[in-house]
Amino acid sequence: MAFVDEVKIHAQAGKGGDGVVRWLRTKETARGGPSGGDGGRGGSVILEGVRDLAALGAYRYEKKFKAEAGQAGANESRHGRDGADAVLKVPVGTVARTENGEELEIKEAGERLIVFKGGRGGKGNIHFKSSTNQNPWEQTDGTPGEGGDIFLTLKLIADAGLIGLPNAGKSSLLNELTRAKSKVGAYAFTTLEPALGDFFGYILADIPGLIEGASAGRGLGTRFLKHIERTKILVHLVSATQEDPAAAYREVRSELKAFGRGLSEKPELVLLSKTDEIGREERETRLAALARASGQEVLPVSTLEPELLKALADRLAALLRSAPGVVLD
Ligand code: GDP
Ligand code: MG
Repeated sequence: MAFVDEVKIHAQAGKGGDGVVRWLRTKETARGGPSGGDGGRGGSVILEGVRDLAALGAYRYEKKFKAEAGQAGANESRHGRDGADAVLKVPVGTVARTENGEELEIKEAGERLIVFKGGRGGKGNIHFKSSTNQNPWEQTDGTPGEGGDIFLTLKLIADAGLIGLPNAGKSSLLNELTRAKSKVGAYAFTTLEPALGDFFGYILADIPGLIEGASAGRGLGTRFLKHIERTKILVHLVSATQEDPAAAYREVRSELKAFGRGLSEKPELVLLSKTDEIGREERETRLAALARASGQEVLPVSTLEPELLKALADRLAALLRSAPGVVLD
């Protein structure tokens, strides 16, 4: 699936139906008083949360949405029918921003939020009858519906996020731990899209693009960093092929700090990855250097060593089970 996490669409709520001027017809008089009904409400533009991470993909091609207008009022004081809402399905975790700076967030499946309100129906002439005016010709038109551009951004709520410099082995590890089909490549930025995998009911996200300067808006990083804002834990991969693993670790850590929003305070599991690429002695030195830099025990891992993968999977599962739930603000 082409993963779409940011999209701009245009939506327009329906205009309210107009109130009308009508007259009661009685036997005696042609005009037996006002009977013009009110217009119906215009349909609103509504976002509805769904459990489908790919749902924003639908808006890549279809970008214009319109709710129905309310119908005009009718004779015998009848109301016009309300316009149907335009209901746009978005994945849970979507933030919608409008041009006037309003921000809405969909947090649950089935949750519905109004982005643009439909117009109010106008009043028919039945409302304008008074002691001095028995036969009012007055009515009001329906008001226009709200509308404009909507920027939809998906913040994934993954349980664990894989972070690390390009080539650290994030995509490969995600594929090993889950049945995801992340692209793997021996060059930087193979992962331009965050990939997700199911790990015993937990969502693991491969977070690409964490590179130097990302938090300052350079490179590919910032756009993707938002996906790890909500994860319970971070799995930080440092490639064993790094001559200075501590420096590689710190580079990513300083990006996390610079990004802010609590990222750097999340529990972190630190891995020395691709350990099959180096000798046993080097492995011990680099594990120790990384342990010193991170202040915690570091697990070695390699996609070629099943027993290391198994130990990591057990550790990760235990961490996920004990991690506190993510608090949605
Ligand atoms: P990412 O950029 O962090 O997603 O890294 P990738 O998963 O794309 O891996 C980068 C390169 O390292 C690819 O050529 C992988 O085949 C290779 N690689 C990943 N994990 C291992 C490993 O455990 N051992 C070895 N020898 N190579 C690995
Ligand atoms: Mg990758």
